[in-house]
Amino acid sequence: MLKFSPILLALIYGLVMYRFSAWRTAKMLDQQSTELADPEIARLTKSMAKALDIPRIRVHIYEIEPVNGLAAPDGRIFLTRGFYRKFKAGEVTAEELASVVAHELGHVALGHSRRRMIDFSGQNAIRVVLATVLGRILPFGGVWVANALTSILAARLSRQDEYEADAYAAALMVKAGLGTGPQKRLLEKLETLTGMGGRGAPAWLMSHPKTADRVAAIEALDARWTKLPEG
Ligand SMILES: [Zn+2]
Repeated sequence: MLKFSPILLALIYGLVMYRFSAWRTAKMLDQQSTELADPEIARLTKSMAKALDIPRIRVHIYEIEPVNGLAAPDGRIFLTRGFYRKFKAGEVTAEELASVVAHELGHVALGHSRRRMIDFSGQNAIRVVLATVLGRILPFGGVWVANALTSILAARLSRQDEYEADAYAAALMVKAGLGTGPQKRLLEKLETLTGMGGRGAPAWLMSHPKTADRVAAIEALDARWTKLPEG
């Protein structure tokens, strides 16, 4: 029993971290957000809601500047104030912003947002357990190897989530009569809007897949859908 106690402690630590960060995220979002009331965006979310056969899609504005969309673990969808500002400034169209809402809806529908919170804090537990175990085998490099392994695992999980959410969004946009054009255009704009052109770190280590790969995946879906007989 005593032998396993470091691992047990690491697991308890991970669980506590998860509880705490879930609570803190929810609290922060509550305090710094309001429901978006924009007629242009509402018109588009209305057609998406109709396509999904649900009464309405609520979108919230999170009062921070970095351009981003977010799906909270409780299923709420957020756009940052900075993102909305880009729309108001004419840098992003309403349809493009709607594609972000569709993408975040995908994360919610596919259960990513909840899992991601677990992933994020679960990562700490995995990191500590790996570091403890590897530290015995490799006294000097163990922690480094544990960190690298955890990062690669996390990056792979989140890249997969992005492709799945993109596919969900593409299907929803098509069904709502908006097509995949806005989604692809937004992905291309996103590189400049978020201020990182995807240079530097190798693609497989970054949490987001390369824009060109994401656009190509959407185009592949589009090609498959348009080949189907009309019906
Ligand atoms: Zn995403």
